[in-house]
Amino acid sequence: MNENSLKKSLSKLNIGGLRYFDSIGSTNDEALAWAAGKAEDLSIVIADEQTQGRGRLNRTWFTPKGSALAVSLILRPSTSLRPHLSQTVGLAALSIAEACLKLGLDPQIKWPNDILLKGKKTAGILVESVWSGEDVDSLVIGMGINVSKLSVPPEDMLQFPATSLEDEIGSEPKREEVLFNVLQAFIHWRERMGTDELIHAWEEKLAFRGEQVEVKTGSELPVTGKVDGLESDGSLRLKDAHDNSVIVRFGDVSLRPSA
Ligand code: ADP
Repeated sequence: MNENSLKKSLSKLNIGGLRYFDSIGSTNDEALAWAAGKAEDLSIVIADEQTQGRGRLNRTWFTPKGSALAVSLILRPSTSLRPHLSQTVGLAALSIAEACLKLGLDPQIKWPNDILLKGKKTAGILVESVWSGEDVDSLVIGMGINVSKLSVPPEDMLQFPATSLEDEIGSEPKREEVLFNVLQAFIHWRERMGTDELIHAWEEKLAFRGEQVEVKTGSELPVTGKVDGLESDGSLRLKDAHDNSVIVRFGDVSLRPSA
């Protein structure tokens, strides 16, 4: 993968600018700085290696050289999209899931921000915002996708099992092709932000549906219940032991199957 091969394979898509790095600290950091400047809508930062890739709450995201997709997309939301920005993480998750489907895989979305294959994490998403006063000026959507076996972190780094596309398919797909499919799905679904169609497609791919899970929400006590579905803003709906709905909103929440 290099800048030329990327530009060639993405030429049919209507993206903004593209910045490619052989190695970078974090693609999200570069994209946030670019977004605070003059980046066009749908500009992309991509790197062959991240030395300081970030998950949520400054957890580390592992991206060794030549093994994964580390991509950050810049969105400049139109006025009509602004009320629906809470669906952004779902939009990204659905796009990665559809790219996995094209490879013959059966992806599931661990709400809110991870893609699972056979119950193991293959990709993660980190959405960050650039503010202008009280308003979101732009969003940066970081996506880390484990492509080759070498992208899977060592056991001692993991709180949740991980895998890669190569591990699940048996051969290594081309990173440019995976990225093309993710971006194509992203462009398709972005036009449907705020619609029930997007929520239903996202909901259909939810992991642990009907199963008992525990959701940790920062300092508060964990919420437990069976995964029921999504609200129209993309919040997660659980059913508690009395069959009452419990809504879990976005934030730094971590969902795990209950022991
Ligand atoms: P959560 O597991 O709560 O969804 P994050 O989305 O913030 O957490 O992801 C960061 C965590 O993901 C790290 O703490 C680490 O356990 C794990 N991780 C880091 N790199 C990878 C990777 N390439 N593949 C799978 N899991 C990873």
